[in-house]
Amino acid sequence: MSGMSNPVVTLGLPPEHEYSCSRAACRDEASWAIQWRNPKIHTEDRRKTWLACDAHLETLREFLASRDFPLSVMPVSELEK
Ligand SMILES: [Zn+2]
Repeated sequence: MSGMSNPVVTLGLPPEHEYSCSRAACRDEASWAIQWRNPKIHTEDRRKTWLACDAHLETLREFLASRDFPLSVMPVSELEK
């Protein structure tokens, strides 16, 4: 035994997946990328990207759509690296 305890919460480690869901408290792998813009604060060429797992795609998309933010959804595989 090394005496090192196994922390329940690990901080400062890289994310489990290359793309993780942007939804708070969700650590699932993201399959979708939502690119959006707030017309009030972002200029025409700015885009924010949120990542979403299958379960949260609709939640995140609805959140943005309800604010009338322009958005587009694409598979993460189509995100430019
Ligand atoms: Zn999620």
